[in-house]
Order: sequence, then structure tokens, then C-alpha cells
Amino acid sequence: MTKYLCIFLTLISSLLLAETEKTLSIIKPDAVQAQNIGKILSKFEENGLKIVAMRMLKLTPERISQFYAEHKDRPFYPALVEFMSSGPIVAIVLKGEDAIAKNRQLMGATDPTKATQGTLRALFAQSTTKNAVHGSDSPQSAEREISFFFTPAEIY
Ligand code: ATP
Ligand code: MG
Repeated sequence: MTKYLCIFLTLISSLLLAETEKTLSIIKPDAVQAQNIGKILSKFEENGLKIVAMRMLKLTPERISQFYAEHKDRPFYPALVEFMSSGPIVAIVLKGEDAIAKNRQLMGATDPTKATQGTLRALFAQSTTKNAVHGSDSPQSAEREISFFFTPAEIY
């Protein structure tokens, strides 16, 4: 009896502890150009991530430099800014249980040759720069990145 009570309490506490989060995803210019928007959105929905905001837009080099400011001293930064402003992107807010980690898992490694089979980057990325998707990597970056693209009234 005590054993079953323990199992029940463990299940209840894990359900209560699982956090509903929001995270920012970007479908990058290479994946938009290759007409992979629909397939990428399906992956999110099939994996329990709900789309609660979405917009297609083209960013100026100045705007994308601000977005990726943390990388400004890295050698790949100029190429990253040029690529990310080269064509339209799709900015998306995803909501779900552990959405930040779940999205990173679905994305796969930055370098597509190292990405796990079946991940978005293994399926759709062309190179480490042209790697199909972006995802927030922490609650702090998710908050900053979501407010970079959306006002609270635009998130459903
Ligand atoms: P993102 O922030 O876009 O989700 P990430 O978190 O997997 O990607 P970061 O280290 O934050 O990887 O790098 C940001 C982006 O800069 C990468 O997605 C990639 O487009 C580019 N990048 C990172 N490292 C390299 C590299 N060594 N060579 C070329 N481009 C790179
Ligand atoms: Mg990153």
C-alpha cells in the first residue's frame, strides 16, 4: 500500500514540477528558401510544442547584429550577420512543457554533421552557418529573444 502511495506521489510531483515555458524559434533564410517552413512547423506540433506567435520578416544587418550581439567577437560573426539578413525568416514563439530544452533537442547540434539523425538540423541544415533553425538556449535568452520580435499582445 505504502509503495503505491509513493508511486502516486512521485507521479503527482513530477507533473507539478514540469514547467510550461515559452521559447523563441527562428526558421533561418536557408530553410525558408528551401521551402521547409511547413515541415519544421509540423515537427514542433508533433512534439507537443504549441505555436503561440509567428511572423515572417526580413531583418536588416543592424537588427540581426543586435540579436546575435553575444557573438560579436567571434570569427564567424560577419558571415552570420550577412546570412541572417540575406532573406526572409520566420520568428515563432513556442509554448510547452520544458519548451526551451525540448526545442534545442529537436534542433540538434549547431554543426549539422554532428546533429543526431532526425533532428531539424540533420534533416534541413546545409552547413554550420546555414543551419536551418535558431532556438533560445536559456530562460533569460528566451525572454530577451521573444521580446525582440513580439509584444505581449501578439502572443496567444
Ligand atoms: P542558434 O543561436 O542560431 O540557435 P546555436 O545556439 O546552436 O545556434 P551558437 O553558438 O549560438 O549556436 O551560434 C549561433 C549561430 O552562429 C549558429 O547557429 C551558426 O549559424 C553560427 N555559428 C556558430 N558557430 C559557428 C562556426 N564555428 N562557424 C560558422 N558559423 C557558426
Ligand atoms: Mg545560440
